[in-house]
Amino acid sequence: MNCNECQNIIEDFIHDRLDLATANAFSEHIRLCDNCYNELEINYCMQTAIAELKSDSVSSDGDFKGMLLRKLSDSVEKYKVFQRNLKIKLTLIVVYLITAGIFLV
Ligand SMILES: [Zn+2]
Repeated sequence: MNCNECQNIIEDFIHDRLDLATANAFSEHIRLCDNCYNELEINYCMQTAIAELKSDSVSSDGDFKGMLLRKLSDSVEKYKVFQRNLKIKLTLIVVYLITAGIFLV
């Protein structure tokens, strides 16, 4: 993912509108690119603060930067779990097919 692609989907990341693979690629790019990280941090902090002001209830401790870092590591973690589950499912399918093959012969 390049900087243009990354900055085009900042809004989608903030509002959880990305699929797991795209969110993971986005987070990986953000981790390595200071420019995109700064762009994301400004947008995220501003939007989260405004949302809290509008809602009249404070749901965070005001540590928007910490919330953003957790959101980024969550998206990487979710993708890892997704890939792990996919491997398990594929393994089960292979085991099933081998077992079915043995009993059919
Ligand atoms: Zn970048």
